[in-house]
Amino acid sequence: MNIILLGPPGAGKGTQAQRLVEKHGMRQLSTGDMLRAAVKAGTPTGLEAKAVMERGELVSDAIVSALIGDELDAMGPEAGAIFDGYPRTEAQAESLDSILEARDRKLDHVIELDVNEDALVERITGRFTCATCGKGYHDTFEKPHVEGTCDKCGGHEFKRRPDDNAETVRTRMAEYRAKTAPILPVYEARGIVSKVDGMADMDDVTAAIEAILAR
Ligand code: ADP
Ligand code: ADP
Ligand code: ZN
Repeated sequence: MNIILLGPPGAGKGTQAQRLVEKHGMRQLSTGDMLRAAVKAGTPTGLEAKAVMERGELVSDAIVSALIGDELDAMGPEAGAIFDGYPRTEAQAESLDSILEARDRKLDHVIELDVNEDALVERITGRFTCATCGKGYHDTFEKPHVEGTCDKCGGHEFKRRPDDNAETVRTRMAEYRAKTAPILPVYEARGIVSKVDGMADMDDVTAAIEAILAR
């Protein structure tokens, strides 16, 4: 099974992807995570991407599509893929078609997380993750059960993204509206899009996605 989680920044793609990974052993392919790893490692890709990401603009299609192809090759053919934050442009959607075809994979579902934009700034400015295992949290909506301790790995260090601030979020939303939302009709024409209410409680969103995957 290969699925795309589509939605603006803060819609809940990463949160839901982590849950699917745990329940179904699928693999999360987050171009945002891959790019942040490249920035941290100081690779040529990272050096090129850093300033673009800090501004909240989109990194070049060629870079992210290359990352996705490499990651699919590294994980082998068995596990299902959850594309989180990719594709984000029409060119990336076309690349994904060829990337999947070359690996005998097919796209089963595009799950659109439908959210109210007004809620996204609060979601993003309150977001943090475990520095050890990467589990996502929120200051208000998903705090660790014991303050300062990761539920999943027991770690005590957490981190926040430099681009998770109110100004950058506006640019990221504008990028989503202008470049990413237009790819939906392409998938709608193939009859593989399902819309989920992303404003619902996290558990309800998960249940709605599970119902789609079980169809
Ligand atoms: P995305 O990957 O789409 O950018 P995330 O999954 O990182 O979004 O979610 C953004 C923030 O909002 C996180 O801090 C997360 O804990 C929180 N969040 C995710 N889904 C919900 C939800 N359904 N209700 C409330 N908060 C949520
Ligand atoms: P979010 O889901 O909160 O928007 P991501 O972690 O997916 O955040 O992306 C963070 C940043 O990384 C984006 O603002 C953009 O600069 C870059 N990025 C991630 N994925 C892509 C992509 N598929 N195409 C272009 N840029 C990307
Ligand atoms: Zn952890």
